[in-house]
Order: sequence, then C-alpha cells, then structure tokens
Amino acid sequence: MRDNGSTSTRTRTVALVGNPNSGKTTVFNALTGLRQKVANYPGVTVERHEGTIRLPDGTDCLILDLPGTYSLRASSPDEAIAVDVMLGRAAHTPPPDLIVCVVDAGNLERNLYIVSQIIDRRLPVVLALNMMDVARGHGLAVNVHRLEKELGVPVIPMVATTGAGIEALRRTVATTPPPSSRGREWKLPEPVHREAEELTGMLLESGKYPEASAFSEAIDLLTSHPSALEQTDRFDRAILEHVRLDHQKLDFLGFDRESVAASARYAWLRQVVARSTDRVGYPGISGSDRLDGILTHRVWGLVIFLVLMALMFQSVFSWATAPMELIGEGFDALGRGVSGLIPPGPLHDLIIDGAIAGVAAVVTFLPQILFLFFFLTLLEDTGYMARAAYVMDRFMGRVGLPGKAFIPLLSSFACAIPGIMAARTIEKERDRIATMLIAPLMSCSARLPVYTLLIAAFIPATTVLGILSLPALTMFGLYLLGVLVAMGIAWVLKRSVLRSVQTELLLELPPYKLPSLKSVLLTMWERAVVFLKQAGTIILGASIIMWFLASYPKLEHGSPSEQIEYSFAGRAGKLIEPVIEPLGFNWKIGIGLISSLFQREVFVSTMGTIYNIQDTGGDGSVSLASRMREDIDPATGQPTFTVPIALAVLVYYVLAMQCLSTVAVMRRETNGWKWPALQFATMTGLAYAAAFIVYRLGTALGGT
Ligand code: GDP
Ligand code: MG
Repeated sequence: MRDNGSTSTRTRTVALVGNPNSGKTTVFNALTGLRQKVANYPGVTVERHEGTIRLPDGTDCLILDLPGTYSLRASSPDEAIAVDVMLGRAAHTPPPDLIVCVVDAGNLERNLYIVSQIIDRRLPVVLALNMMDVARGHGLAVNVHRLEKELGVPVIPMVATTGAGIEALRRTVATTPPPSSRGREWKLPEPVHREAEELTGMLLESGKYPEASAFSEAIDLLTSHPSALEQTDRFDRAILEHVRLDHQKLDFLGFDRESVAASARYAWLRQVVARSTDRVGYPGISGSDRLDGILTHRVWGLVIFLVLMALMFQSVFSWATAPMELIGEGFDALGRGVSGLIPPGPLHDLIIDGAIAGVAAVVTFLPQILFLFFFLTLLEDTGYMARAAYVMDRFMGRVGLPGKAFIPLLSSFACAIPGIMAARTIEKERDRIATMLIAPLMSCSARLPVYTLLIAAFIPATTVLGILSLPALTMFGLYLLGVLVAMGIAWVLKRSVLRSVQTELLLELPPYKLPSLKSVLLTMWERAVVFLKQAGTIILGASIIMWFLASYPKLEHGSPSEQIEYSFAGRAGKLIEPVIEPLGFNWKIGIGLISSLFQREVFVSTMGTIYNIQDTGGDGSVSLASRMREDIDPATGQPTFTVPIALAVLVYYVLAMQCLSTVAVMRRETNGWKWPALQFATMTGLAYAAAFIVYRLGTALGGT
C-alpha cells in the first residue's frame, strides 16, 4: 500500500501504556496537543486514539494512547487491544518502536507490574514516572537514578498535569533505548522454573517465537487457566498438550499455578521499590501510613490485636450482664402476669412452661450477641480488620492458611454462616475449603447461652491467681479449645488432602474510615431482628413442641420428674441413653442434645422447659441453674449434672456441629454434600471423643 503525502514521512510508532488512571491521556494530550484523532480499532468498539508529533529530524512520529491495563494478561476487550498492540500482534498496527509506560509514582509497586513484564520480553521501553506530586504528597521521594539502575530502563519523572517532564519525554521519544540490561531478576520456585525452561526450549525449537519473549510465553502458558489454552490459536497442539501435562504436574505438587509468577514478581518489585524510594515525611492529614506501620508491626501490631480482642470479650461479657438480668426479670414478670390471667390447666402450662420459659431462656442472650456484633462491625468499618488479617498472616501461615482466612474465622465467632460466606474472598479453592471446614469450630454466639448457663450453674465464682475469675477463665478456655482444634484440623488438612504451596500475601489495605454510628447500629438492629425472629418462630415453636413432648402422654399418678421420664421426649432421651452414657450423660441431657441438633441454643430452652415442667411446685423464682444443680434422677439416685458432666457437655458443644443452617450453607458454598458430610461426621466424632475424655478425667480426679 502506498502512503499518501501527509504520512509519507511517518517513521516511528510509540505506544503509551500503563494502568488505568496513571495519566496516559494527560501525557498524550501534552505531547500531541491538537494533532490527534479518534477512530475505532477494526472490528471492535474500542476507541483508538492516535496523534502525531514532529521529531527533531523532521519526521513524524505516531503516538498511540492505548487502553489502560494492569498486566499483559488481558481480561477485557479493551485490555486485549492494548496488549496486542504492545506486543506487535495486532494486524492493523505495526509493532511499536518504543513503549512509553506511564506509571503512577504514588502507587509504584502495583504500576511497575506491567513494566516488569515488558522488561522480561526485552521490548524497548521508557518509564514516564508520572504523578511525582502525588508521591511527594504521600511523603515518598523516588530516587530516579536508583530506579533506572534497578530496572535497567530510562525513567523520566513528570507531573503531566503541569507539563513538568513532558519536554524530556518528547526528546526521548525520538530514540530507542537498548533493551533492559538487567534481564529478568525475579525468581520462580525451582520446580516451576524447570518446567518453564523446558517449555521455552520447545517454543524455540518450533522456531515460531522470538527468542526474547519465549520464556515469558512459557510462564504465561504455565500459569494460565486451562480454559485459556483452549481459546488460543497461537500455539501448536503438541505444545498445548505438553502444557496440559505440566499443569497436572504442578497442580499435583501443590502449586497455585495461576498466582505463582505474580507473587514472585511482586516480591521482587517490593524490593525494587524499597531500594529506590525514601520516606521524606508522613502524609499530613490522614496519617494512614504511619498508623499502618504501627498496626501491622511485628510486635506492636500483635500486642494491639490481642488487647483489642481481650477488651472485646471482656466487654461482651461484663457489659451484657445488667441488660441480661433485666430481660430475665422482664420475662419473670411476664410469666407471673400471664399466670394470673389463665386458669390452671394444659393451656396455662403450655404458655408458662412451654412458650415463655423456653423463649426467655434464649432471648436473655440478646445483649451479648449485640455487643459482639457492635465490636465486630466497628472493627470492620474502621478498616482495622484488614490490618488484623495482615498481622495474623504469619500465624495462619504456620498451619498453612492465608492471612485472609482470619476474617471469615473471626466472623464465625458471631456466627459461622456469615463466616463461611466471607471465605469467598480467599482466592485459592483449597484454602477456602479448609477455612470453611474449620469455621464452625469458632465458638459462635449460639453457643454462648449454653456456655453461660452451664458455667453459671457449675463453675464456682472463685478467683484464680488472685485476679482471674474461674468462670471467665472457663469461658476463655472453651473459646480457646475451639480455636486450637480448628488450627489442628487445618494443619492436618493443609498437609494432606488440601495441600498447596503458600504464596505471599497480596492484601490491599483499605483506607481508614471513621465508622458511621448509623451503619453500626443498623447492623446491630439487623442482628436483633434476626435473633428475635428466630426466638419468636423457631425457638418458640421448638419450646412448644418440647413442652408437648415432655408433657404427654400424661402419667396419672406420679411426680413431675416421673412424668417427664414417661413422656415422648423422655422416651427419646432413654433411647439414646446407651450411646451417650459413656460420656456421663443421662436421658435428660439426651433430650437436650437431640432437640438442639438443628440449633445449639435450643439446648437451653429445652432445659428451661423440662425443669419448669418438673418444678411446678416451685415459686418460680428459683433459677434454671439451681434447678439443674439440684436435679436427681429418681431412677438411679444419681445427679443429672456433676461438674465433670457439665464440663463434658460444654466441650461437646464447643466441638459438635449441632447447626443445620451451617450444614445447608456448606452444601451451597461447596456445591455438594461431600464436605458438609465430612465436616459433620468429624466434628461430632471429635465432640464425642473429647466429652468422653473430659468426663472420665474429671471423674477420675474426683470431680463431683
Ligand atoms: P489515564 O486513565 O491513564 O488516561 O489517566 P488520565 O490521563 O485520564 O488521568 C487520570 C487523572 O489523573 C486525571 O484526573 C488527571 O488530571 C490526573 N493526573 C494525570 N497526571 C497527573 C499528575 O502528574 N499529577 C496529578 N496530581 N494528577 C494527574
Ligand atoms: Mg485515558
């Protein structure tokens, strides 16, 4: 094709590339002024911005303002165009003589990612280090010469909006720098590297791929998603077959193929940035970097984290006491009031002993749940949670989990269901499954009623070592037990069926925010509504059913206690008694275990119902705790609960699944029954074994 007169002197093509919003268009406008036009790339709706500048030798140079892209792996049509043009693969545009990579100096590490990919391919590139003013505002001084040395490419500092540096760039555009003298400096893990080299050899042998980019192509192939291989027509079938085998091999070795190169590259870039930047001050207003420095500090970060967690639990338990008592008294008053209105008879018993006693036993725990959510929401909304994940990364790493797993696990202290759903942010499938499997072992708020009831009833309120209260210590122990067992399971899983190679934490720290009281209160309100709705429906229903099952069939002559034993519930409890007897549990506890299979706190409402029916003669002011303490099974003459039995029940509830909603969510999130079934079986088995050990040990040590 013959050029017409106006373009006959055009000799060079220069492509402006870089991340979105790094200032490419601003640089483009500053370079080309009015000498630009917009068209579409052939066959797609992506706009093509091109302009020309006159070079010192009198020739024209074509400048292309390409769509923004973060890497050479395109994920949208816009990015695909940018990558194709850059690599000279586009049919409509000649390979650029020079790539100008526009980089946001305020976000250097992320922006250098694509630069390093370009360097790997030994393409001619200069760095337009833009937004120097922004970097300075962040308290960061970039040492331009150092950066040039580290990367081995020319770096031109600039502020495109003021025009600073544009002249230097204009001069550079006329020259083509030699390819980076440094070569590829970042290192892949050895086995991946070996496969990449082998594949590079194959690519070179076929003779179709330029030597400079063959290694990059090989890495690209090894780290791409299998479906990407099907879409490409750039490679021979034999090569693609080989790549598929490599994928299997690396997957088998446990590498997270798709992120292994990215992590290695970032690790190197972090060094490059650290060596070529200096802190010259701290950001004035936000102070956010300085705060990050403290909150993610090796020592201080951990200290602050532990103090915050301790404060949180302490407050949850101490602040909630007064409102809990208030609610308890409210229900007592309600019971007495209603009692006077209804004549004695089955309806009276149904409402007082069934409905009110059951619901009261559970609703009392509303304050604790609200306080827990108050703190969790506060920590999340301020942006602290992400810092905590950063701090926890090292510890989670010990058991093979990523730092990100920490947030789902922490949420699981409130409820495993949002926790399991929060695991979606974990990139690697195996890590995600491992996290979901252990999430229900974090003591959720539904366990709190069970813990509090049994601790209040059976753990004496004495102090240990002068300052620690024994009940609080027991509570802490239960939480700790769940965490430790969870970590143990994760450790085993990550060394067996869910093995994978750990990669660097690529966590973005979100900006700090002043939490909005409104959003915190809104979350608490939502939680309260959900909880009360459950109390008003599931718990109410369960309480009424329990009352019925524990009251019928009626025994004509017999004590209330014999009545319960004779009832449907009593028979069910008796039925499983042989199974739970080794744990020291009698049929009454059996009733609680069965009824709370679908929701843990039902154990408490069941106890409330059973003991209210049993103690009809009482004046109503005797607490559930003391009734449980004094209960003797007339058949055996043995107390239902002793301290070792209560501890065994507690341990059982720490470890057992006892939550059908969690099973349902697990099924949904893992797309099958395999994991939830395994989880249910393991947790129940562990709970049984642990309760057995606690009971036997407690009894052997003389506990009564
Ligand atoms: P593109 O997406 O890479 O084309 O980025 P733009 O050229 O559209 O720039 C994004 C934003 O950054 C615009 O608001 C620019 O005005 C601004 N911007 C570009 N260069 C600089 C700079 O050097 N300093 C500052 N402070 N802002 C800049
Ligand atoms: Mg633009």
